[in-house]
Amino acid sequence: MITIQGKGVSAGVGIGPLYFYQRAQAALPRYTVEDTDAEWHRFKGAQTGAIEQLGELAEKARAEAGDDAALLFETHQMMAEDLDYEEAIEQRITEQKMNAEAAISDTADQFAAMFEAMEDTYMQARAADVRDVSRRLLDILSGTVAGGIASDVPVVLAADDLAPSETIQMDKTKILGFITAGGSGSSHTAILARTLGIPAIVGVGAALKADYAGREVIVDGSTGNIVIDPDDMTRDRLMKKREEALRLQRLLETLKGQPNITKDGKTVRVYCNIASPEDVHAVQVNDGGGIGLFRSEFLYLNCDDFPGEDQQFEAYKQVLADMEDKEVIIRTLDIGADKKIGYFGLPQEENPALGMRALRICLTRPEIFRTQLRALYRASAFGKLGIMFPMVTSVWEVREAKRICEEVRRELKAEGVPYSEDVKLGIMIETPAAVMVSDRLAKEVDFFSVGTNDLTQYTLACDRQNNDLGRFYDPHHPAVVRMLKLVADNAHKNGIWVGICGELAADLTMTETFLAIGIDELSVSPRAVLPLRNAVRMTDTRETSPRILAALADEYPAH
Ligand code: PEP
Ligand code: MG
Repeated sequence: MITIQGKGVSAGVGIGPLYFYQRAQAALPRYTVEDTDAEWHRFKGAQTGAIEQLGELAEKARAEAGDDAALLFETHQMMAEDLDYEEAIEQRITEQKMNAEAAISDTADQFAAMFEAMEDTYMQARAADVRDVSRRLLDILSGTVAGGIASDVPVVLAADDLAPSETIQMDKTKILGFITAGGSGSSHTAILARTLGIPAIVGVGAALKADYAGREVIVDGSTGNIVIDPDDMTRDRLMKKREEALRLQRLLETLKGQPNITKDGKTVRVYCNIASPEDVHAVQVNDGGGIGLFRSEFLYLNCDDFPGEDQQFEAYKQVLADMEDKEVIIRTLDIGADKKIGYFGLPQEENPALGMRALRICLTRPEIFRTQLRALYRASAFGKLGIMFPMVTSVWEVREAKRICEEVRRELKAEGVPYSEDVKLGIMIETPAAVMVSDRLAKEVDFFSVGTNDLTQYTLACDRQNNDLGRFYDPHHPAVVRMLKLVADNAHKNGIWVGICGELAADLTMTETFLAIGIDELSVSPRAVLPLRNAVRMTDTRETSPRILAALADEYPAH
């Protein structure tokens, strides 16, 4: 028995023969061309072919894995005709007289190296995309047909790395799991594997040897563990785990359409966090009760300049209309700290997390804020909207934000533009200051939503971006949990509701605590809705709450 450790990026256990992905490879021709015009047209022909193929793949992905997966290929279409990419190829062909294949290959290396050098792991993973698009162009030029799985039985598929287009083209009924030597959790293959519910492990390096091909392998996507030629005990243990996971998945499916209600009849609303209108599909599939946090930054991050009012209006309207009569809470822009955008022209700061971010930018540069608020109020005519402000520390900030909202409403009324009179206004509780004045803040707004990611960072003086801080960044710390209780009590005393939209909301070890504290809403990633519903339905607060509340008030054993 051989065990190998990788990084689990899609949970589940897969068992079957190990199969190495066969990639059709054509040698790369490299020569000098005389007729650079003709060579450029060869490239343009391949580009048109690639865009067509990618359009077909987008439709296949949409049918098999939803809109998010389709978006991958739509992004690849954009990459294939990206001006910078095209210009770099053109320059190699026309100035350096390279043949199209060499120009594409060198440009792919140049762009992939640029992405790989970026700090952001998401951007690093985009190197695989540029290689994938370039490989498609090269295959078209050489007439190569993409590789596949020449096996009659389902297999655990191993590869050095898998491009998203390779993954989507495969016959998924033949795949029991993925193992890749490279890759990361945010690579598109990992995202696709999660969407399709196939166990996947990445980053195993050179540990997987070619002579293991055809041998029995078990992959455990939750631990990242790979076992080749398992002994009977290991096989039994992992098969049991697999059965258990499948049983849980079937149970979760039966929970669709069911209420989030405890055994003793307490309910909590389970909403979703989204980052773009495309994510609404996942909310619907997972039966989310509403949207508790729409991070509106995506609109700003996807542009080279400030997104205009109409552009924003269309995005908000789409989400509200798609969610029909369900509540949608959109957070106003939360730029700054880790989310820097060049065109904002923000100053360099020594401590950006403590600097000019979120509501502070909106109140300092109200023209940016007004554009967003106008778009939001206009969209409010199409659904049930709540607006919430991030990074609040003081009552005056909330009053000023509300005053600008009031001015925007008056403006729209004067212009005869329709909007809803029933837009709820709320704030995120993300700073210890907001917690300590939550009794006063509660008198100003319709709801609170606790951002535990930032609240933990600011309460424990622990940078959320710094992985080295490990256990010091602890959202379970009693300081944070006691703050949640204080905020909930102040909200309820003042007749408003309180939710949690930080990552902690999906932490099932905390569900009983949230119910004990009386949290009204939990907003989580779409895939966490059904596991959370299950945890709520397993709880009897008559048994759990007295113990939890006593522990919170008194000593807290873990600390
Ligand atoms: C939070 O801070 O908990 C939160 C939800 O906001 P973000 O993670 O976007 O800062
Ligand atoms: Mg935050």
